[in-house]
Amino acid sequence: MPSQNTLTDEAEAFRAALISWYDANARELPWRSEPSTYKTVVSEFMLQQTQVKTVLPYFAAWLSSYPDFKSLAAASEDQVLKSWEGLGYYSRARNLHKLAKDVAAIPDGELPTDAKSWLAFPGVGPYAAAAICSISFSDPSAVVDGNVVRILSRLTADETNYKNSTDAAKSYRQLVQDLLNIDRPGDHNQAMMELGATVCHKQSPNCLLCPVRPFCQGHASGVAESLPRLAKTKFEEVTLNRAWIRSAKGVLLHKIPAAAKRMKGLHELPDLAQLAIPAPQSKPQLVRKRGITKYRITERIHAIPANKLPAELPADHVWVAAEAIPDLPFSGPHRRWITELLETIE
Ligand code: SF4
Repeated sequence: MPSQNTLTDEAEAFRAALISWYDANARELPWRSEPSTYKTVVSEFMLQQTQVKTVLPYFAAWLSSYPDFKSLAAASEDQVLKSWEGLGYYSRARNLHKLAKDVAAIPDGELPTDAKSWLAFPGVGPYAAAAICSISFSDPSAVVDGNVVRILSRLTADETNYKNSTDAAKSYRQLVQDLLNIDRPGDHNQAMMELGATVCHKQSPNCLLCPVRPFCQGHASGVAESLPRLAKTKFEEVTLNRAWIRSAKGVLLHKIPAAAKRMKGLHELPDLAQLAIPAPQSKPQLVRKRGITKYRITERIHAIPANKLPAELPADHVWVAAEAIPDLPFSGPHRRWITELLETIE
């Protein structure tokens, strides 16, 4: 990839063009006004896998419920999961909660200021560590994620076939560090992210408005939009049969145990297989489709009479009064389905 060297040779001009554009065009975002390490950490956790417009209302509500590390550390896990409800990828909420407890336990309250030390905090990987430390402490660590991979692959007209974005990110690690503006590393990193989010779109990059177009070999050679070359994700189809069971005791729910890999601590509609009830052949009450990572899931929710239940409920299954449901943490889809079912059937 000889063009990576060309770009490194032009690094100074590239940095100047990028930072001038950012100074004039950066969006006003709540974590950028009156910034603090806490706001930066919360925003970086929320923005993983999630778009800015989705995060904005959650960020405002979060800051109002938990204005600092101390108040977040003092909250219960149920409260934290409830506040995160609908934002998805719930391990982020649990890790942010643990991180707040770790920070609150630092005897002198002195936070580390370099990316390497931040890697020791729960849920902080190389991307988050570089973002937090460059923005909060001017640590000269460059970020590389999907946005940055897209920009660099286009700037260098890199037509290599990569397995995925992580694979491509590895090959750009040195270039992205060489390009970093060490006088303003936090702003440089945010400028790269901003460029990816607002100009160098996946489809139809807005090259006419791009501040780094003079350096872009992908644009010059007409291949930019086809880059980066990432292998297509292979999706797996999965069908889940769930139960909607009501009795005088309330609605039967499954509380996902702490030992589960995903969604631990959240409530959900029970899986018929866990209740040892065969899936009925009749039409389900609700059929909903959704995607989680590489899975394409068809959720079939059946209304089941309570007398079909085994004499003893399996572990982690609980009856919950309908009035108590709003206070429990659910994932967004389960909350929607339950609300719909409560409105349509007794
Ligand atoms: S010129 Fe176009 S393809 Fe190249 S970095 Fe800018 S927006 Fe992206």
